[in-house]
Amino acid sequence: MEELIFASHNCGKIAEIKQMLAPLNIKVLSADDIDLPDVEETGATFEENAALKALTIAKLTGKLCLADDSGLCVNALGGRPGVYSARYAPNRDFDKAMDKLLAELEESDSPDRSAYFACVLVLGHPEGSYQRFEGRVNGKIAMQKQGNGGFGFDPLFVPDGYKETFAELDADVKNKISHRGRALQKFVSFIHDLK
Ligand code: IMP
Repeated sequence: MEELIFASHNCGKIAEIKQMLAPLNIKVLSADDIDLPDVEETGATFEENAALKALTIAKLTGKLCLADDSGLCVNALGGRPGVYSARYAPNRDFDKAMDKLLAELEESDSPDRSAYFACVLVLGHPEGSYQRFEGRVNGKIAMQKQGNGGFGFDPLFVPDGYKETFAELDADVKNKISHRGRALQKFVSFIHDLK
């Protein structure tokens, strides 16, 4: 494998994936490099959405395509926002989305602040088959937003074993322990086994 498309318009994710795949000598093409259609996420699960994106673009371009779907699942909110994490933010305004999440948690009256990020990565082949790789990181929702790094809900998420939020930790540390990092490590092992 010399080249693959990463089907995402999310700059934060594109930067993370390019950084993590750089040592493999695989050229990653993303929305920065080529025109990619926006594929609507109509699935009910992370896997369905990731497979929909990866296979639509693999078939369209004739190239291998990696896509992910991910989200934040908060236990006191019954796993929400989950697959709807991106849509939880009005106009992609995550500052407002985080305020809404903190307000919902307060209204729930639950002392449980446990949560996890989940990511399913799918490698789609132009002829329609795919492989899936899953990663998860457990943690807690902070009492308030902390830090300026990362993207999305990072300023609210404190991974287990750390005092800092994802937005306060170095990108290298986040990439090692994050849901996407873990899914990617499985993808990288799969590529090594192919070689
Ligand atoms: P999608 O996978 O592009 O549908 O978006 C998932 C949404 O989940 C993002 O827009 C973020 O709100 C959230 N999310 C997924 N991964 C992360 C992460 O690593 N940090 C912060 N938020 C994330």
